[in-house]
Amino acid sequence: MCVDPTPPPAASLTRRGVLAGAAALAGTTTALLATTATPAAAAAPRRLGTPLTGDLVIEGGTLLDPGTGDVTPDAVVVIRDGLVRAAGPRSRIGVPQDAPRLDAHGRWVLPGLVDAHIHLNTAAEARDAVRKGATSARSGSTNFYQDIAVRELARQAPVLAPRLKAAGVFVTPDLGDTVLADPDLTELARLKDGVRSAEALRRVVEVNLARGADWVKTRVNERAGLPEQDPLAQVYSHEQLSEVVAAARRGGRGVLCHSYSEKGCHDAVTAGIRSLEHGVYVGERTLHEMRRRNTYFTPTLAAIAGLAESSNPVLAERGRTYLPLLKRAVLAAHERGVPLAAGTDSSGGTVKPIGREVELMHAAGLPALDAIRTATTGAARLLGLTTVGRLARGYAGDVLVVAGDPLADLTVLSKPVSVVRSGLPV
Ligand SMILES: [Zn+2]
Repeated sequence: MCVDPTPPPAASLTRRGVLAGAAALAGTTTALLATTATPAAAAAPRRLGTPLTGDLVIEGGTLLDPGTGDVTPDAVVVIRDGLVRAAGPRSRIGVPQDAPRLDAHGRWVLPGLVDAHIHLNTAAEARDAVRKGATSARSGSTNFYQDIAVRELARQAPVLAPRLKAAGVFVTPDLGDTVLADPDLTELARLKDGVRSAEALRRVVEVNLARGADWVKTRVNERAGLPEQDPLAQVYSHEQLSEVVAAARRGGRGVLCHSYSEKGCHDAVTAGIRSLEHGVYVGERTLHEMRRRNTYFTPTLAAIAGLAESSNPVLAERGRTYLPLLKRAVLAAHERGVPLAAGTDSSGGTVKPIGREVELMHAAGLPALDAIRTATTGAARLLGLTTVGRLARGYAGDVLVVAGDPLADLTVLSKPVSVVRSGLPV
């Protein structure tokens, strides 16, 4: 949404339409659940059955632990009820005989990856993200609260969606059709200047929080993915961003902020955002602040690289100019100890594999293990997912099986041989 041009949402989508959409998602889920439903249970979707999780033993692969950097040949990972019960060398763990097995001989095994910036507007996109290796994710906002439903879908039927932190709708001056996402947003359509006053900014944040958003997504600059917009033009001031951050904090939530210009990045970081998105022109003084405040940097290199391949000449030129600048910013951030998180900024029907972002982190100058950490332990910390990013006892049974050694060739991450979500093969 921030970078790629996104087709406008169907004008017919109203709150009722969204509820119908959610019901359709629930229908998908129901088909996969144990058939314990009674008419009474049908009125309460959460009681249809226990959310699915799996038992699985993955044996024979080489296990990589991004937490420690340890590499264990001929490893065994035992998953029960969707959680890792044991992981380590065969000599220590042994292979239980009573669970389904996934043979990983000749392969490498690592935790499922985290996409810290993705727009999942449809069930197809959610499913695609998991298949391409993102077993956890943070939403970069959706037009009609679809991410809130995707988060629930992921709990009920983990193979259909990444475990998700939802951001609800974008806090932006022009809501467009998103005023129809919730009846409490409709009066904002009366505002001549759009969502700019303290009161209007608070309203969008509060509606998001009431709908159950885990994060708040806002912006300081215009978009890179629209040729008529200038991504260095600033849309919100430091004061306005501070208003958004304060409103989010009252609900105990962090803010991720779409940013390009150095002044925009600096205003966003000093306003107290939790993570800086894109950040092509982020400068030395802002990186220093980010280090001091532990603000994360989600550069979305894959999205900027995608611009360079655009058929639109303005966007292609923008992408070619931005990509080397962004790579330099990523390396500078890493060298200064600013935490990095991998995010593809996928939207509009095309899901980029999160492994591609890891490759680009490495191309920017990060050592391979550090690049992998931006999509495992690092991104998990940003998202507050304490059982994601490693395969150790008590962690989520989310696993990637890849064809070769990712420390030698990161391209294997973009084409996983198998993906396991909560112990269930995808
Ligand atoms: Zn985005």
